[in-house]
Amino acid sequence: VEPIHVIGGGLAGSEAAWQIAARGRRVVLHEMRPVRTTDAHRTDSLAELVCSNSFRSDDAANNAVGLLHAELRKLNSLIMASADAHQVPAGGALAVDREGFSGAVSAALSSHPLIEIRREEITGLPPAEWGNVVIGTGPLTSPALADAVRALSGEDSLAFFDAIAPIVHRDSIDMSKAWFQSRYDKVGPGGTGADYINCPLSREQYEAFVAALIAGEKTDFKEWESNTPYFDGCLPIEVMAERGPETLRHGPMKPVGLTNAHEPSVKPYAIVQLRQDNKLGTLYNIVGFQTKLKYGAQTNVLRMIPGLEQAEFARLGGLHRNTFLNSPKLLDAQLRLRVQPRLRFAGQMTGCEGYVESAGIGLLAGLFAAHEALARPITPPPATTALGALLNHITGGHIEAVDAGPRSFQPMNINFGLFPPLAQNPTKKPDGTRLRGNEKTIAKKQAMSARALADLDTWVAETLKVADAA
Ligand code: FAD
Repeated sequence: VEPIHVIGGGLAGSEAAWQIAARGRRVVLHEMRPVRTTDAHRTDSLAELVCSNSFRSDDAANNAVGLLHAELRKLNSLIMASADAHQVPAGGALAVDREGFSGAVSAALSSHPLIEIRREEITGLPPAEWGNVVIGTGPLTSPALADAVRALSGEDSLAFFDAIAPIVHRDSIDMSKAWFQSRYDKVGPGGTGADYINCPLSREQYEAFVAALIAGEKTDFKEWESNTPYFDGCLPIEVMAERGPETLRHGPMKPVGLTNAHEPSVKPYAIVQLRQDNKLGTLYNIVGFQTKLKYGAQTNVLRMIPGLEQAEFARLGGLHRNTFLNSPKLLDAQLRLRVQPRLRFAGQMTGCEGYVESAGIGLLAGLFAAHEALARPITPPPATTALGALLNHITGGHIEAVDAGPRSFQPMNINFGLFPPLAQNPTKKPDGTRLRGNEKTIAKKQAMSARALADLDTWVAETLKVADAA
């Protein structure tokens, strides 16, 4: 029986190889380190953690990444088992001893009788005789392979100097100050004329905002990031602010074509617009607000915007090099490249972000590849689970806004905004008294987590176990 080839022995590729071998299939895992390294990796270990040693919150009941941990554990994830075995104290977070963790992943894979590890860079498309392949070469995919995939996908670029705008949870926006309206009430394809959320600023508020932007602490550029082009040529807002006090008012904050629904007679001096970011309508991005302000400064400055005082962020803005596919356009629901379905992608290259998310998409890619090779394809976990919600976002749940330019899909961490809403939001505590304020948000997250774990159990029993046993 021919082996399944997995390219990239990072968080995603390691998990994919493990899941395939667990289903009795041979695997050849191609990892280029130490023959060639990246600008961020330091060792030749598989699943090296390039930065923080944290897998973030381990609280499955209240936190979306904690929920993802729990789902991965239920699916016998090698990454989670190795993390659990090498945990270091970190409060409610799951942090690991990085050498112990990567060492455990490397040992498990290299001692597995069905897995062969080849230390080599794959510099072009995998040869046809390899058949179906999983590619999980990460945000720092070597340029030769990235170029080959780019040429095949027809995209202009896959590696970006990524300028990302912050994304806000819709239900944290104060609609007693903000209002829905499209500029000049323009009705675009699929639009209503009221597609944007608008936040008004007076002259004093605008001037204070610009001053805070200029004063805010910025992230430094890393040397190795300096050769990569900007994503869509977007300038960070603080760079625009430095060019002159009026620049933003003539750019992303221009107040024209909009009337404050709460105070129609008062003309705002500047306006911040937010655009729907997912099909569910639970997330909105701040239009044109890509920024490299440090996270703490960024939250403080953005909460100065009227209507966003209590804003909760699904992701903050940032600037870094990143190789990723325009997945909603290029990949099918099983993570295969539409134009060449023998190539299946995994990890951050597909547009998820984070160690745990990359491992999660690696796990799904491994399952899909193994079951396809065994001629018993499986349907993915439902979108109500963390794994399903992430997969759905990557392969179809993201909407391409009409005026967002050539490409607006951005990598994202798992968060509850990616899950379908509950049939009914909880309103009461178990003792029958009414939930108040923040209690409602907590109860909603807990209900979404409970739904996810129950739905994953059903999927495992009715789909995965049946396919594995066939
Ligand atoms: P990787 O883990 O990078 O694995 C890809 C593997 O493919 C690497 O081992 C690489 O050597 C190999 N490879 C590349 N090209 C080839 C080729 N042509 N042939 C063979 N092998 C190849 N996430 C967090 O959760 N926390 C953080 O603190 C964090 N910090 C980050 C810092 C930086 C600088 C970057 C770039 C990303 C960071 N991320 C972080 C985001 C991301 O989740 C991680 O990069 C994660 O490791 C991605 O998993 P992956 O498996 O997709 O890629």
